[in-house]
Amino acid sequence: MRSFFLACSQSTWMRERATRYPFVRRAVSKFMPGETADAALAAAQILQKVSIGTVFTYLGENIKDPAEAERVTTHYLDVLDRVRQMGLGTEVAVKLTQLGLDLGIELCYQNLRRIIAHAGAGSTVWIDMEASSYVDATLDLYRRALAAFPNVGVCVQAYLHRTRHDVQGLIPLGGAIRLVKGAYQEPPEVAFPRKAEVDENYFALTQQLLSSEARSHGLRAALATHDVKLIKRISDWAQLQGLERTGFEFQMLYGIQRQEQLRLAREGWKSIVLIAYGSYWFPWYMRRLAERPANVLFVLRGLFAS
Ligand SMILES: Cc1cc2nc3c(=O)[nH]c(=O)nc-3n(C[C@H](O)[C@H](O)[C@H](O)COP(=O)(O)OP(=O)(O)OC[C@H]3O[C@@H](n4cnc5c(N)ncnc54)[C@H](O)[C@@H]3O)c2cc1C
Repeated sequence: MRSFFLACSQSTWMRERATRYPFVRRAVSKFMPGETADAALAAAQILQKVSIGTVFTYLGENIKDPAEAERVTTHYLDVLDRVRQMGLGTEVAVKLTQLGLDLGIELCYQNLRRIIAHAGAGSTVWIDMEASSYVDATLDLYRRALAAFPNVGVCVQAYLHRTRHDVQGLIPLGGAIRLVKGAYQEPPEVAFPRKAEVDENYFALTQQLLSSEARSHGLRAALATHDVKLIKRISDWAQLQGLERTGFEFQMLYGIQRQEQLRLAREGWKSIVLIAYGSYWFPWYMRRLAERPANVLFVLRGLFAS
């Protein structure tokens, strides 16, 4: 099932057809407040009232034209202005292939640099991690950006064998790291094939990111998962270590585990929700279906309700 949806996420043919069906669009709305920045801003205002922070991501990836990368960059600059005007603490998360990575490293870096500079020192720009073929380029651009700006973070994936080593090298740089399990189709030479191994590596990486060494370098650690068992294991361990509840953060996606997002915020943990929006949602949505087969039933229920 996971492989099927991850294959769909790459299919232009599927994207062009499936996105026309109202029942598919209705199902997607569970994970997106809407396709526009206005919808994302309205959702962020509501979450701010219950002490949940937000990160925006404008959906899109693997763009093929520099003009498109420019349009995306300008979109982020505008959204950051609107976030400021509305007094929201919202940060942004970007995909480097949407800023032109496939077209050239320098073009991509210049777009990334503009967004980071515009966000200002108090607002981290998070760089998503995409398929494993992009990890080296992504980490190189993160290191380069972090040498020039304090407000940049990168995502690392617990399913990759290499991540433990990558994190060890990144810790002395400080900066910000978001840990996820990983959402792409990867071969066993590159990624742990079994979920239990990924979960165990996630916990080991969390310990690395919250270690006294990492804290001494001022590393901001964001643990992005909806796995409530893992969240409990992490929060129990953090308390045993005497870590402050606000010393790191949990991040989740809009619409997933809402009760857990609220519970964490209520109990004084930092709870952040990533809000994705935009019209290019198909590959992103297929990755959400791959993560949880029960979501497919939700789509089908929508079909019969229509
Ligand atoms: C803030 C954030 C940023 C992310 N950025 C990236 C990135 O840059 N690169 C990348 O590769 N991946 C990214 N991901 C996705 C991540 O890699 C996982 O695919 C995703 O989070 C599912 O894994 P999980 O940790 O929630 O655990 P899982 O073990 O997959 O799920 C645990 C439980 O959470 C719930 N759940 C999980 N996913 C869903 C879903 N789609 N719908 C409904 N319930 C669900 C279910 O109850 C499930 O049993 C990001 C995730 C988050 C939360």
